[in-house]
Amino acid sequence: MDPTVDPALRSFLDIAPDGDFPIQNLPYGVFRPQPGDAPRVGAALGDWIVDLAVLEERGLLQVPDVAGPVLARPTLGPLMAAGPAAWRAVRTQLSRLLRHDEPTLRDDVALRDQVFVWAADAELLLPCAIGDYTDFYASRHHAEHVGRIFRGAQAALPPQYPHLPIGYHGRASSVVVSGTPIRRPRGQYRPAGADAPVFGPTRELDYELEVGWFIGRGNALGEPVAVARAPHQIFGFVLVNDWSARDVQQWEYVPLGPFLGKNFATSVSPWVVTPAALEPFRCPGPAQEPEPLPYLRTKGPQAYDVRLEAELVPAGGGVPVLLTRTNLRELYWSPVQMIAHHTAGGCNLRPGDLLAGGTVSGPPGPPGVLPSPCGCLLEITERGALPVALPDGTTRAFLADGDTVILRGYCEGPDYRIGFGECRGTVLAAS
Ligand code: MN
Repeated sequence: MDPTVDPALRSFLDIAPDGDFPIQNLPYGVFRPQPGDAPRVGAALGDWIVDLAVLEERGLLQVPDVAGPVLARPTLGPLMAAGPAAWRAVRTQLSRLLRHDEPTLRDDVALRDQVFVWAADAELLLPCAIGDYTDFYASRHHAEHVGRIFRGAQAALPPQYPHLPIGYHGRASSVVVSGTPIRRPRGQYRPAGADAPVFGPTRELDYELEVGWFIGRGNALGEPVAVARAPHQIFGFVLVNDWSARDVQQWEYVPLGPFLGKNFATSVSPWVVTPAALEPFRCPGPAQEPEPLPYLRTKGPQAYDVRLEAELVPAGGGVPVLLTRTNLRELYWSPVQMIAHHTAGGCNLRPGDLLAGGTVSGPPGPPGVLPSPCGCLLEITERGALPVALPDGTTRAFLADGDTVILRGYCEGPDYRIGFGECRGTVLAAS
């Protein structure tokens, strides 16, 4: 077993047993310890951030085969590009430094003062410069449900669905870190029953509960990533809220897919959870029938058992409501299949590219019961036909100005949990 995920492992710091960031997790992020400080790479541990730039500078953390500082940088890009052997080496060194029985850091009070930053005081930033963002549609339950709402039951699932992971090239410039306010977009849509379209603030602003992953080394143009090699391309996973304007989307998406309905904002959680930390939670995904073509065939379990939730904090600070509870293992297509398909024609992925699997939904539950297994309001409310009732007496068909959506994800082990932290955003009124 990988010693960095040994359930018996413990740190010399006091870590709450039900927290997101035990020593077995050690997700990477980019942060400023105090306002005005230079951004650098850190790892989350309990309520602390471990300043990896300090450890690198002291020679306590070494990234093999890379010249110059890798961690005293405002981005995870150089670490992502260093590749899986370097990731393993850094994680192993870091895990060892933080163990309860390792004195180097534990017994050096002055060094500890520099290395451990109270997370509540720090500012978390986007983990890297994202060159390209691609979003897939890998939950079959979501695809069937949305297809039924937009096109009717007869045409719900496109015929290619069980043969290839459907995706589209999204917009990287508007990917923002958790906490960034989301301005309600204006756009063109045709109101129900109207003959002509209008232009104005979307009336159907929605969240999408997703998980994304950052690409590590990437591949050369013209050289596809074989599905068996695809695991080596995944640097780590984050929560993704792919905010969507459903009225705009519905009016524009045929024939080329989403455009302004989704390009105004995408939120990501700041902590990048590594495949090493998730490995103990690998599990089978849904059976794939018919068997995919050879370039998409995988051996062994390729899904992850990650519990996912979306919570709404209504405008005005009312009682939070859990809207969605689902699991990442619901995705029909696995991340490695999405990478293999994305690159099958020779498209090059680059370090820091973001791929996301699409809204994660389970089979629709009984209408009106919350939390729902569906990962967006479009599904939960049947595009507004069945608004959800909130404890403050208001209802929601879609998001209102002032609403906050918080996504959470975690793997629950017998002895510890591997958490993703939060991905949150508050809706601002249209400008
Ligand atoms: Mn999406």
